[in-house]
Amino acid sequence: MNGTHQHVSQPPFSALGLESLQEWARAHELPAYRALQFFHALTKLGIGEFGELTEFPLDLRRRIGAERPLRSLQVRMHLHSPTDGSQKVLFALADGMTVETVLIPSTRSADPRRYTVCVSSQVGCPAGCTFCATGLSGFGRNLTGYEIADQVMYFAQALRPEGRRVTNVVFMGMGEPFLNVPSVRDAVQRLTDPAGFGLGQRHLTVSTVGIVPQIRKFAQWGGQVNLAISLHAPNDDLRSSLVPYNQRFPIKDLMDAARNYIASTRRRVSFEYVLLKGTNDSLDLARELARLLLPFGGSAHVNLIPWNPFREGRFVRSEGPDADAFARALHEGGLNATIRYSKGLDISAACGQLRDTVELKKASNPSSDAADLTPLQRTIA
Ligand code: SF4
Repeated sequence: MNGTHQHVSQPPFSALGLESLQEWARAHELPAYRALQFFHALTKLGIGEFGELTEFPLDLRRRIGAERPLRSLQVRMHLHSPTDGSQKVLFALADGMTVETVLIPSTRSADPRRYTVCVSSQVGCPAGCTFCATGLSGFGRNLTGYEIADQVMYFAQALRPEGRRVTNVVFMGMGEPFLNVPSVRDAVQRLTDPAGFGLGQRHLTVSTVGIVPQIRKFAQWGGQVNLAISLHAPNDDLRSSLVPYNQRFPIKDLMDAARNYIASTRRRVSFEYVLLKGTNDSLDLARELARLLLPFGGSAHVNLIPWNPFREGRFVRSEGPDADAFARALHEGGLNATIRYSKGLDISAACGQLRDTVELKKASNPSSDAADLTPLQRTIA
């Protein structure tokens, strides 16, 4: 994505906003319109190579290509699912750390041109949810706003030749977005800037495990951006065993924050619930969940997500009749609920799985580049 040079001393061009590009153009004695052309190419077209800067003369492209990278990410692995069309990329950052990003095409016939990018906001995650591959692998660092936005721009560029585009972005990849608010706000600003990528705020969703003070602040800064809360259990004992942050921000405080958010924004909240067989999928728990969320009325929607197994995961996926029965009990309890089967199971699309698998391969065979990971289409850069 960045070309062949690796310049770690300077942030990439994608880090620069329009004003910074204008300053940069002045410093390089370039006419002001070059800054605007560059900004449009970076943010509207989503170019991934200096060669795509076709409005720039070749010698200028070469000169700036030697200065710093175009973007912040390099593709380490790109997997395509032959079963559902989802794609997953493992990106290397300038410091060699890696993050995952998933592209999810719509399967709804009413909405065939919907392409959702699921971005990571941190390398690893400090939240440590016990059912999550990323949570078990620990925390590396926060991503910057441009590292988050560049994940979207990568897929924008990949879809462009086919006349398709990224229509939705969800902050549901690696990391807890509300533990990295400045970068998430910066990424939201970059992705919704009408002069740049120009996504509507309603096409973005930030998903949190329940960092209560930040939910309260999000009610002020989030605008029309959607909020999803990862609940996973209707009572504190069970939730604390799945989501350690529940000990700090118990369900009562979380519900207060959600109520406050709905009252001040008049927007709906999605509650995410990973279904773990024999752990949180009993009908009694479904009824308890219905009682907990019923006061939100139509402002709450529950997304039931059968758990995606991974190497060290100690849970069992709840699906089929069990998931149906759980959803039915929620409906009978008066809640809106949808079962959402994750895409890309064949390409380790659940957050943290691909990185986990590649690290495992490297540990067992340092010369391996995970070349025999799966029989799927694959690009290794
Ligand atoms: S589920 Fe989300 S918040 Fe929890 S550990 Fe995984 S990435 Fe972090």
